[in-house]
Amino acid sequence: MSDFPTTARVVIIGGGVVGTSGLYHLAKAGWTDCVLLEKNELTAGSTWHAAGNVPTFSTSWSIMNMQRYSTELYRDLGAAVDYPMNYHVTGSIRLAHTAERMQEFERAKGMGRYQGMGLEMMSPKEAQDLYPFMELHDLQGVLFDPSDGDIDPSQLTQALAKGARDMGARIERFCPATGVSRDKDEWVVHTKKGDIRCEFVVNAAGYYAQRVGEWFVPHGGRSVPMMVMSHQYLLTDEIPEIAAYTAQHSKLPLMRDVDVSYYLRQEKAGLNLGPYERNCKAHWVQPDDPMPQDFSFQLYPDDLERLESYIEDAMARVPLLGSVGVNKVINGPIPYAPDGLPLIGPMPGVPNAFEACVFTFGIAQGGGAGKVLAEWITQGATEWDMWSCDPRRYTDYTDPDYCVAKGIEVYGHEYAMHFPHHEWPAGRDRKLSPVHAKVLELGGVMGAYNGWERANWFAQPGDDTSEAATHTWNRTGPWSPRIREECEAVRDGVGVLDLPGFSRFTLRNEGAAEFLRGLIAGGLPKPGRMNLAYFPDKRGRILTEMSIIRHDDDLFTLITAASAQWHDFQVLKDALPAGSEIELTDDTLDYGTLIITGPKSRALLAGISDADLDAPWLSREIGQVAGKHVLLLRVSFAGELGWEVHADNADLPAIYDAVLGAGAKPFGMYALNALRIEKGYRAWKGDLSTDYTLFEGGLDRFVKLDKPQDFPGKAALQNEMQQGRKKRFVTLIVDAGEADAPYMSTLWHDGQVVGETTSGAWGYRVNASIALGMLRADLAVSGTEIKVEIYGKMYTATVQADQPLWDPQNERLKA
Ligand SMILES: Cc1cc2nc3c(=O)[nH]c(=O)nc-3n(C[C@H](O)[C@H](O)[C@H](O)COP(=O)(O)OP(=O)(O)OC[C@H]3O[C@@H](n4cnc5c(N)ncnc54)[C@H](O)[C@@H]3O)c2cc1C
Repeated sequence: MSDFPTTARVVIIGGGVVGTSGLYHLAKAGWTDCVLLEKNELTAGSTWHAAGNVPTFSTSWSIMNMQRYSTELYRDLGAAVDYPMNYHVTGSIRLAHTAERMQEFERAKGMGRYQGMGLEMMSPKEAQDLYPFMELHDLQGVLFDPSDGDIDPSQLTQALAKGARDMGARIERFCPATGVSRDKDEWVVHTKKGDIRCEFVVNAAGYYAQRVGEWFVPHGGRSVPMMVMSHQYLLTDEIPEIAAYTAQHSKLPLMRDVDVSYYLRQEKAGLNLGPYERNCKAHWVQPDDPMPQDFSFQLYPDDLERLESYIEDAMARVPLLGSVGVNKVINGPIPYAPDGLPLIGPMPGVPNAFEACVFTFGIAQGGGAGKVLAEWITQGATEWDMWSCDPRRYTDYTDPDYCVAKGIEVYGHEYAMHFPHHEWPAGRDRKLSPVHAKVLELGGVMGAYNGWERANWFAQPGDDTSEAATHTWNRTGPWSPRIREECEAVRDGVGVLDLPGFSRFTLRNEGAAEFLRGLIAGGLPKPGRMNLAYFPDKRGRILTEMSIIRHDDDLFTLITAASAQWHDFQVLKDALPAGSEIELTDDTLDYGTLIITGPKSRALLAGISDADLDAPWLSREIGQVAGKHVLLLRVSFAGELGWEVHADNADLPAIYDAVLGAGAKPFGMYALNALRIEKGYRAWKGDLSTDYTLFEGGLDRFVKLDKPQDFPGKAALQNEMQQGRKKRFVTLIVDAGEADAPYMSTLWHDGQVVGETTSGAWGYRVNASIALGMLRADLAVSGTEIKVEIYGKMYTATVQADQPLWDPQNERLKA
């Protein structure tokens, strides 16, 4: 009788480093009844030919967490599973050619130190002591990362496989999955050797992930947003000087010249040079170049011409590179999601299915990815907030053209700095507001939000709106005087912001109210009113926030951030009781929103609307504006008297024209961000994330532990209430320099790390640099002075009273 498994708790499709790490971590969590299917031999996809570099560097907190975890895992893995492997922790030097790059390094250093890694800045001369074959021209400084190194990707995968097998998990090699179907509440994964019934299924198919993903489309899924690039590195012949140096000292640290865009690593006694070239090449995109059915253990033809200028540059930096010939070129497929980050987490729209695919740095991230995947499956939540990698961050706008345009852009800028006022130009104009043309005419300088184009700021004739002007970490630029004017108009008069793509769901029918009460920590508004509600996860952490508008006992509109659209819809959908009458729809595409706010907004609206404008704060009115039917919400994220006007897309142009005609000044997202931070209003996935509980997030007034309904996290929050909280949400005024505190700037006190910022911006009404953040609870006392590290410099920050900086009693809001 065949011993082919016919059932399993989890089936993972794909035996690269990522799928195998997922299997290992599931087994470690006690889930040993799991099967991994690999169509060929393990590592046959991208893994076998990877260069094996294992950096920790990132300016993303979650990616750094994953990469740091990988290095910690890899150090002990060989011994833990009794599979010795080549893992060299050589450290790395990252070269900076510009002041801005030095600032970026300082930021990563601060984050890395917070995570316990000893990253250090050093002078080019000091770096030369570590790397004597390096020339020093054009350098401003160097970042040294002692945890960096290289690993043999195949050995790593085999070690993870051995560990998983030893714990009881199974790996079926030469066993392609050929499709999936659903039977009752189970998945059936089809293979040539037979079917496997399972509870959960994972797409870990690397660059084949889109193909595997298509099987899930009939089950509510979408096409996996990805494309495939070719990435090359060359290996030189042995270099005697390097052989001699290594014999006397140690392996050279890895070098990355990020402003030029390449890595250079010692491989045995030679060098491995891998550029990310601007003149890069996408594969398997055109109809005449289809993806082969099987590309296992294959490579693309060498194409060194594309790399010429990078090779020359690297030879000038390390002349020894030019002293020997090229021994081998590796040119292999590497998958890219539109932002270059992987997809790890729930598969959008599909029950009990997960993704762990489209990794561009799967060797460095594989360890952490396995941990994250296993947590998603076994616990339904992850230790670290992983939104940056969550598949639901993309919605319906990621067609193939978009994916290719973005993939090429990201690959060609793999090491680029991501400046706070810069918007990447590729793949734009995916979704346009009905008043888009008018917004442009008014000078709108646009940004993309879940594919929707929104004005970030409004330029005046003569303002510099070039990309080059945004290449700064500083607060000021051509936009800053305009943001001030926009904020002052909202403060003194009335402003209007076109906000397309505000995510909007309708929940209706008997039981809808009770359903919501069982999901949110607080109470529901009465019919005709609205409120803000927080959805905790079962640990009491902040899963999401939505505005709840109650039209009738069991009829609600729920409004949430543009980028939260698919995430929040799934939160609601997955919780709907089976067979319930409650109906949930996503109406995001049908409506547009204008924010009309400022002390003169009532007067302005009175001239063009028949609605009751004296209805109180947090009320909801149906009425007419400019003769068009609208929903008016008496609320303002800008923190002034104001309304959100929600209308059919077709009616929005007439309303926008009327509002502008009545004297409102258009303002943009940058101004809105400045205005909201002065009120202490939290931003999604900055201030509001699953890294924090509702109590840590200072959301006490939205938690009703005494309400009769149970809700996720109630017990955890009750427990936290009794134990006391370790961190507290605070507002800080920062005696900042030229830049405001970015996300995850470290807070210091008496030489100790005591917290982190979750967002920062200049407040133009209070004329101060403001940061929101999490601080050790005993220090969260008004007036306490701490330090905040911003791009490597320490600035004094003062804890503010637990109330908004602007209009603390909400008098203007409620006027
Ligand atoms: C030249 C080059 C150098 C690189 N260097 C580095 C580096 O230095 N550091 C780094 O971190 N990353 C590097 N990468 C990227 C790295 O190789 C990938 O990110 C990583 O290997 C992805 O691992 P994975 O498990 O997600 O995918 P893969 O390794 O592609 O594994 C997917 C597996 O799924 C299997 N599969 C597909 N369809 C099916 C099916 N239907 N049924 C069963 N099995 C299926 C495939 O056979 C394959 O084995 C490099 C990439 C290239 C091209």
